Amino acid sequence: MENQYVEKFLSIFEGEQQEVHTFFAPGRVNLIGEHTDYNGGFVFPAALTIGTYMVIRLREDGYFHLASANFEQRISFHQSDLTFKKEDDWGNYPKGILSQFEALDFALTGADIYYIGHIPNGSGLSSSASIGMVTAFAFNELLKGSLSRVELAKLCQRMENHFMGVNSGIMDQFAVGLGKEDHALFINTHNLEFEAVPLTLGNYKIVISNTNKRRGLADSKYNERRSQCEEGLKQLQEGGIQIEHLGALGQDEFEKHQSLIKDLLILARVRHVITEDERVLKAVAALKSGDLLQFGQLMCESHDSLRDDYEVTGLELDTLYTIQKAQSGCIGTRMTGAGFGGCTVSLVEDSHVESFCQNVEAAYEKEIGYKPTFYLSEAGEGVKLI
Ligand code: ADP
Ligand code: MG
Repeated sequence: MENQYVEKFLSIFEGEQQEVHTFFAPGRVNLIGEHTDYNGGFVFPAALTIGTYMVIRLREDGYFHLASANFEQRISFHQSDLTFKKEDDWGNYPKGILSQFEALDFALTGADIYYIGHIPNGSGLSSSASIGMVTAFAFNELLKGSLSRVELAKLCQRMENHFMGVNSGIMDQFAVGLGKEDHALFINTHNLEFEAVPLTLGNYKIVISNTNKRRGLADSKYNERRSQCEEGLKQLQEGGIQIEHLGALGQDEFEKHQSLIKDLLILARVRHVITEDERVLKAVAALKSGDLLQFGQLMCESHDSLRDDYEVTGLELDTLYTIQKAQSGCIGTRMTGAGFGGCTVSLVEDSHVESFCQNVEAAYEKEIGYKPTFYLSEAGEGVKLI
């Protein structure tokens, strides 16, 4: 497969194969811990085996020429102008990464790059962190930088926050950068301590189902949720609770002091964050003790909270969730990613996976009018040179 990509690169950019390098970064699926990563809370994602390939050859004239198998538009710019330009569309992701390297005084010299993505865009499997991390990792390698994977993840987060204007947390970049085969990462997003937990699923498989609804206004709603959390934190602090982030508040403490938050909408948002954090802890413990039924139950509770308290699900995700929950062999299911569309993640018994997909497809199409798409993925490795 990778050879084909190099051939395609050479058909676009010409030249010899020497000096052409291929990198890969996975997408990620979050098993539980949603909308907690920008609150210093816990998350539990796994890197996927599908992701983004990047074929690259450095240039010496300072120009970057970008092509993608996923978009028709080619993008070119000079390293003297690494600013966000709306018309550069998807090219802003790599450009944003390059501007971060420029800020760190890396000696950029230009490059030809061809991306091949296998992750659906805008579906909650983090194709943006995948293209960001593959680009950051490649330039760190090729320019002989010494940034660690964690530093690269932070660099990519800065790109999304400051260049693309999406106030996302660190989870996606972290999972894409540090993922481990057959493991999920239990991450404390406040101090970035993490533990790779074996994803021992026995007879169960992870099934990802895409609602195929584009997320639309997701970025602005995402930023709105984020400010609602900040408002909740502020009201708790003004009431005398000495915490720096919502993740620092345990559920018992929250229940004691919740009346400090007067606005019911803000209270519901905070309640989601606090209870979700607790669910991650319980889910990791359940997985470690082999209690998959409990793990699945917590996934469903997570979805309920995201639907009722955080209000980031919507018709398509809720329809998929309700249908999936009722399927035999499905012991847990929930929306994954930012929400407002995108994917669900489900735990389904091996022998039921086929009938699960068939039944869900038919029932979802009947209600929504178009089909979902399914992805079966193991937990894969983080970004790498191949
Ligand atoms: P998500 O991260 O959930 O997939 P985002 O909206 O955050 O959704 O990021 C998707 C965007 O990332 C795409 O619209 C595109 O601009 C960029 N992108 C991701 N993968 C690729 C790719 N293979 N080639 C070019 N651009 C890509
Ligand atoms: Mg994204």
